Amino acid sequence: MPHSVCLTYDFDAVAGWTSAGLPEYRSWGVYGAETCVPRLLDLHDRTGVPSTWFVPGHTIESFPEVAGEVHDRGHEIQHHGWSHDPLPSFGSREAERRDFVRGIEAIEELTGETPTGFRNPAGGFSEHTVDLLREFGFEWDSSGTERDLRPYYLRERGTVEPGQPYRRGERTDVVAVPVPWHRDDWLQLFPVASDPQFVSYGHEPDVFNRWRTELRWMREHVEEGVLTLLLHPQCAGRAPFVAELEAFIDDVSELRDTEFTDVSTVVESFSG
Ligand SMILES: [Zn+2]
Repeated sequence: MPHSVCLTYDFDAVAGWTSAGLPEYRSWGVYGAETCVPRLLDLHDRTGVPSTWFVPGHTIESFPEVAGEVHDRGHEIQHHGWSHDPLPSFGSREAERRDFVRGIEAIEELTGETPTGFRNPAGGFSEHTVDLLREFGFEWDSSGTERDLRPYYLRERGTVEPGQPYRRGERTDVVAVPVPWHRDDWLQLFPVASDPQFVSYGHEPDVFNRWRTELRWMREHVEEGVLTLLLHPQCAGRAPFVAELEAFIDDVSELRDTEFTDVSTVVESFSG
């Protein structure tokens, strides 16, 4: 089996800006939907590379034509909540479940297909999230990073108590495809003025150099490695990034032991 590179997009659009920042920040969401997504889809058309899109229901209902294009041009659309609110912020299983179901329905309405994969919106899982994934028969999740270059099985939430060792939860049959933070374009290239963690723009070639080094290391040291990139259209669709992404796609396409796949394909061939 060859190694895999998965290009995944969190198409948050305005959903990522509803509760944070100034109203003008929402223009980034519109820019992402109307300018960047078409740009990225054109790149995928040109190169024939598949990808996975996590699309909140809020985005589907705000930009239905753009979300429809993603599907019509052959990319899988998976679950990313409806509102994109952090899962722990719902405060109850019922409230989280309502948003979860609404997100599924939005995707079904758009594509006619039920999503099988999930990525948590900002903020991580709540104590109910794994339960909901199982209740609705999700096959995989791509939110965490218990490993970095190989899938694994998601566990029930572990427990952390003062003075006690970490107790890992029971293993589930939901496959987890990791996305470490250093492969998230947003954390490196999208500073938000009000957030002291993100104070300056990174340099696109530096970010891709890091990913290229990791890919090279994976090919040398890992069997059937999986390198997943977490991209956001409003960040990844900016011209300097698109140019670097196209060069990266061209270079990876030359490799005989590595191929681009969507996440569902990686999950299908994972056997533990
Ligand atoms: Zn998101």
